[in-house]
Amino acid sequence: MIEKLRSNVASVRDRIATAAERSGRSVDDVTLVAVTKYVDSAATEQLFRAGCHDLGEGRPQVLWGKADAIYRPDLRWHLIGHLQRNKVARTAPITTLIHSVDSNRLLNAINSVGSDLNRQINLLLEVNISGEQAKHGYDEAGLADALEYAGLLKFVQVSGLMGMAGLDAGELETRRQFAHLRDLQQRYSDPQASNIRLTELSMGMSNDFEWAIEEGATIVRVGSLLFDGV
Ligand SMILES: *Cc1c(COP(=O)(O)O)cnc(C)c1O
Repeated sequence: MIEKLRSNVASVRDRIATAAERSGRSVDDVTLVAVTKYVDSAATEQLFRAGCHDLGEGRPQVLWGKADAIYRPDLRWHLIGHLQRNKVARTAPITTLIHSVDSNRLLNAINSVGSDLNRQINLLLEVNISGEQAKHGYDEAGLADALEYAGLLKFVQVSGLMGMAGLDAGELETRRQFAHLRDLQQRYSDPQASNIRLTELSMGMSNDFEWAIEEGATIVRVGSLLFDGV
């Protein structure tokens, strides 16, 4: 299993490097978050041993369980799925980056946990770039409002934006949605508050991470491709 994982990881990293080069960027500008939601703790640990130190989970409870089961000081957990306010207190202390903040009530809950911990919690604001009703994320007006609101919260650090392309979007439409997220990042690149610095763009999954990199992604979240044939 570990050999197959290693070769999958190598192939994904290769494709990341090529896409970064194609768009005139350095491979070091793109972080691979390996999404482990398809597998158990044992397989997740194998993936860590195959060189993936940034791991992403969709569900907070699963992340807690795995963080308990796999203790590695250089493992960085990313929460990429929906977070409910009553799960913030257990999630924030063990997470490097929360990608999926989609409401001001959640921002407020994260801020109070940050206050309890006496440190800033690092997060991204999720934007609904596909416009699909079923998707989480702020719309454009909501994002403007969220940035203003977050600027008043001392214990959150807003590091960028996260988005997911529509399920059935082809290449052109997918790229358009990613480019839109990058435009929004640039629109707010000169924010009013010191706890807001939109340097990260988390976009791109197994089916579209190369397009995402070409459109400016700094973080890609890849799952199924890593477990292909494992
Ligand atoms: C599952 C998931 C991914 C990874 O998707 P793959 O297509 O398996 O690479 C990335 N981001 C989010 C938010 C996810 O839920």
